[in-house]
Amino acid sequence: MSEGFWRRCSSCKKEIAFSVPYWICSVSSCNRKGSSYVFCTVGCWDAHLPTMRHREAWAEEQRAPATAPAAAESTQGAGKRTVIRRTPSPGAAPKPSTPAPPGGRNDAPREMLIVASKLKAYVRARSGMNTSDGVMEELSERVRALCDDAIDRAREEGRKTVMDRDF
Ligand SMILES: [Zn+2]
Ligand SMILES: [Zn+2]
Repeated sequence: MSEGFWRRCSSCKKEIAFSVPYWICSVSSCNRKGSSYVFCTVGCWDAHLPTMRHREAWAEEQRAPATAPAAAESTQGAGKRTVIRRTPSPGAAPKPSTPAPPGGRNDAPREMLIVASKLKAYVRARSGMNTSDGVMEELSERVRALCDDAIDRAREEGRKTVMDRDF
């Protein structure tokens, strides 16, 4: 046995190497010991949704163990990092061929969260530099990502309010 990889993707059967990120399904029936699903990309996780008919599911990013002995110790990798949340709308099949972009987590509005005039004023005061409009979009995306993580933390503690300590 000379396996140079950790496991195979449950969707596309591509090899998932040691120490690389992979994705699991949030639904417990997809994580039974011995028959757990692992996916090399969010797109591959997406692809199993129509067959499983999950009511609510999201992909959780994991990291494959560094070595084979470590793999024997833990089947779930080194720990949870990012969670891509996705609730498939009933009846509407997700597009399996489209891997989710990092920002495309859900249907929340993708509006500008940054007050452009204030940010530009800040940058100008600090440095005399101008700020391009793309910066506002990029920062909005980061703020959304930070909020998503904070939401997860609040949810884990059973709260309905996101608090400063969640960041
Ligand atoms: Zn795959
Ligand atoms: Zn699943």
